[in-house]
Amino acid sequence: MDYKKLADLLFPDNKFTVEEIEKKYPKRKLEKNAYVTRFAPSPTGYMHLGGFFQALIDYNLAKRSGGVFYLRIEDTDQKREIAGASAIILNILTSYGFLPDEYQLKGGVTVGDYGPYYQSERKEIYKAYAKKLVSEGKAFPCFCRKTEGLSDVKEKREKKFAVGINEDKDPCRNLTLEQIETNLKEGKTFAIRLKSKGDGVRKIKFHDGAKGEVEILENSMDAVLLKNDMMPTYNFAHPVDDTLMGTNVVVRGEEWLPSYPLHAEIFEALGFEQPKYIHSPLIYKLNEQGNKNKISKRKHPEADMRYFDKEGYDKQAVVEYLMNLINSNFENWRRVNPDADIMEFPFDGFKITANTPIFDFVKLNDVSKEIISHYSAEKCYEELLLWARENSLENVDYLVKDKDYVTKVLNIDREKPKPRKDIYKWSMFFDVFDYMFSAPAKFEVEEENKKDFEEVLKTYKKYIDLSSKEKWFENIKKMAAELGYATDNSDFKKNPEKYKGNVAKVCEYIRVAVTGRKNSPDLYEIMILLGEKQVLERLAQFA
Ligand code: GLU
Repeated sequence: MDYKKLADLLFPDNKFTVEEIEKKYPKRKLEKNAYVTRFAPSPTGYMHLGGFFQALIDYNLAKRSGGVFYLRIEDTDQKREIAGASAIILNILTSYGFLPDEYQLKGGVTVGDYGPYYQSERKEIYKAYAKKLVSEGKAFPCFCRKTEGLSDVKEKREKKFAVGINEDKDPCRNLTLEQIETNLKEGKTFAIRLKSKGDGVRKIKFHDGAKGEVEILENSMDAVLLKNDMMPTYNFAHPVDDTLMGTNVVVRGEEWLPSYPLHAEIFEALGFEQPKYIHSPLIYKLNEQGNKNKISKRKHPEADMRYFDKEGYDKQAVVEYLMNLINSNFENWRRVNPDADIMEFPFDGFKITANTPIFDFVKLNDVSKEIISHYSAEKCYEELLLWARENSLENVDYLVKDKDYVTKVLNIDREKPKPRKDIYKWSMFFDVFDYMFSAPAKFEVEEENKKDFEEVLKTYKKYIDLSSKEKWFENIKKMAAELGYATDNSDFKKNPEKYKGNVAKVCEYIRVAVTGRKNSPDLYEIMILLGEKQVLERLAQFA
């Protein structure tokens, strides 16, 4: 077969040759150990938590090594294109401080010399490489039914299990030049398939940054490279783009691991060197029965990164929590280095936690509480307002007008050696501190204590003194003694039957009357902020 002639027949009007293209994509000038990584999402219109997890690995690898982290939008599957996809991804990455070095906004700016960064704009590039492969007898046209890419690959794979490996070889690989010419004259469209050399028995080995040594059956499938609309499949775009754009470590989801042999064969056919791979684990969640489920947008709202913004999670907390899922020694490091910049952590993208990462809100909330507890009241106010501006407009006016009061509320039990850890996301603020904004409607008091509760509150009006914390507590103790409560705890422990309770119980009743709750931050601070008038109003209903 005259492959050169075949290539010209199939691609008569290619705009570029591969030589011309390669001139436009010179090797990147970087230090020897610098990593070039990319985040390469399909434009689904949101950013998946698992994708963010990968981008975090990408960013860390590139930035710590003086390399490049870029964003490429894989939009060759036009049916799934969502307008503004790259803006959504960029917004999220940037808001977490991970602005890629290179990216493109559709219809807007392009930053970087290795674009276009939208695959749909690289069609001529894929066509040039497909033509090259055909001219070397390594790929062939296929005129069969569904040649629309991955669905076809899937269909083939199913067949392989049903009827044996030879089915991998596509019947169109045996067409003669004359038959192909006839098909073309009849106006039939074609896809381009790889002419696989694999026998489906040999095995290949490679090192994966997350999985270690992997041994896997080599490819034997005549996989589709270009679909009949001349758009590449992922399998073809990956070797072409990552080579031209200079990626030297590919971080991608572990669902791509089974396709590795196919990619290895395509890299070889193209004469390209393969990058390193890190097949990052998918993130799971435990259900109520304790079974693991892949995190998915359908079942888990947190699969969409915008969830964390809506809820007002602290961004650093989200990042630190995920860092710990990537490298399990992060938590210990943070304990020893509470104030260190995250970039000082000895990150290792090639030592990803061997355990399946399980997303756990309890853990995330703890990380977040810890971080927020160390913020100043001023910083909390700014974060709260920022969150409200995006997610809770009805509260913005109030927050702006009463900045001083809100900051004071945020400062209760804060900026102290042992700050209170009650807030882990900003959407909680008005719930946690509801009693600072309106009188409680419900009171945490047991039925059998109601009488004592009311008695204390009736009496307390006479004893209230907010002039100093000492005076305030002294008076509570005086009242407690008068009503038959112990003021000395050791005495109370020895002779509990002598008393109605101890002074702590009296404080609890006052706390419940003022805040509705048995647990709250410092009661004196709360009463000072509310002011005596308001406290008395709250007590009045028990008179
Ligand atoms: N577009 C592919 C995906 O979203 C990218 C995989 C890769 O990073 O190579 O799964």
